[in-house]
Amino acid sequence: MRVVLMGPPGAGKGTQAARIAARLGIPQLSTGDMLRAAVAAGTQIGRKAKAVMESGGLVPDDVVVAVVASRIAEADASGGFILDGFPRTRAQAEALNAMLAAAGLGLDVVVELAVDEGALLDRITVRAEEARGRGEPPRKDDDPTILRARLNAYRSETAQLVKYYEETGLLKRVDGLAPIDAVTTHVARVIGA
Ligand code: AMP
Repeated sequence: MRVVLMGPPGAGKGTQAARIAARLGIPQLSTGDMLRAAVAAGTQIGRKAKAVMESGGLVPDDVVVAVVASRIAEADASGGFILDGFPRTRAQAEALNAMLAAAGLGLDVVVELAVDEGALLDRITVRAEEARGRGEPPRKDDDPTILRARLNAYRSETAQLVKYYEETGLLKRVDGLAPIDAVTTHVARVIGA
């Protein structure tokens, strides 16, 4: 099964994608995690992505599309995957369609975690506090000012994709503000897992 999980920053995509991936036995492909790993490793991709990620903007499409194309080609993704945080622009969505179509494949379902924006700042603040509580540094972009930039990027680029996937009939909407277990149950139901 090939699934896309969408939603604004702080909507719980990472948590839900991990749970659904474990349930379905397919990998969770998080472009945010892949890019953070590239930044930490100091690769060429990481060097291209670092400043824009720290400012809350979007990494250029060609960089992200190349990362996803090579990850999707790995053996563990041959039986399906759940994409978390990709696509985020119309160009990325079209590139994803093209790479899947080239292999005779397509997406099965796109899930939007719908979350009221007012709740997101609280969630990001809690996420940063939890990281500190574990003795880990919080993500640099889990900060109120940068969250604003990330929300702007979501509104100006990614929100339109919801409409695009709605038109293709692939979109399912789930209330992302419900308790975590209820969200997982609902996501699993809408994707038929
Ligand atoms: P995330 O962990 O999904 O919130 O992503 C963290 C940051 O990585 C984002 O704010 C972007 O700077 C970058 N990023 C992740 N996925 C993408 C994507 N599909 N397109 C562009 N930038 C991305």
